Amino acid sequence: MNASYFSYKDIYIEEKKKVLEVNILPEKFCNFDCVFCPIGRSQNKTDVHKSFNGTDSSLIELESKINILNPDLVFINSKGEALLNDRIDDIIDFIKTKGKSVRLFSNGYLLGKDKYMSIANKCDEVVGEIKVLSEEDFQKLQRPIEGYTLAEYISNMATFRRQYSGEFIFEITVIKGYSDDLGSIEKLKNIIRKISPDKIIVAKISDKRFERKFGITDEKLEEISKTLLGT
Ligand code: SF4
Repeated sequence: MNASYFSYKDIYIEEKKKVLEVNILPEKFCNFDCVFCPIGRSQNKTDVHKSFNGTDSSLIELESKINILNPDLVFINSKGEALLNDRIDDIIDFIKTKGKSVRLFSNGYLLGKDKYMSIANKCDEVVGEIKVLSEEDFQKLQRPIEGYTLAEYISNMATFRRQYSGEFIFEITVIKGYSDDLGSIEKLKNIIRKISPDKIIVAKISDKRFERKFGITDEKLEEISKTLLGT
């Protein structure tokens, strides 16, 4: 049997819940190639399912982690887009059979596509995100697969949200010089209305390598958060 390729963060507490965070990709696979990606460049830019050796061993290891650590929630947060693992369906089902809730982090683009939508629908919580507000900035900073558009990105998340019965969490990362001006905040308010998430998280780029160029100050983050969370 091939070796496990899942990796884990130390278990942590969030709103009184024990969270086990797991990465289910052996290396980066993503449909974007963001200039500020903490994982590095996307050598594998794709939006089709990929098969990896070692998933069965990885599930055995995951079972043992769940048995020992007894988390309330398993958070699938991967090196790229977790939906691209062709066994993601099995992974979610497996966690559910252990009686645990599942949260899935996705950049959100694939959530509007039927195949990926039905997989994400199995999760108790799904996170989708946005970082920039113009088509030009989306292409320049997030370098998605050719043919992707910001308009489709937003409508994919709105389509997903309309039919999803779990908790949809919308994570907005404010980027210095790109999404921290008044025009961007107004655009974000409209997008929030369109998507109608259950919860909003407002964040900034905090990775040391990109903070200087793209990170806003804590004061600015607080100010923008207040405006957006009051939407
Ligand atoms: S969407 Fe996330 S994982 Fe993918 S390239 Fe951008 S920052 Fe990296």
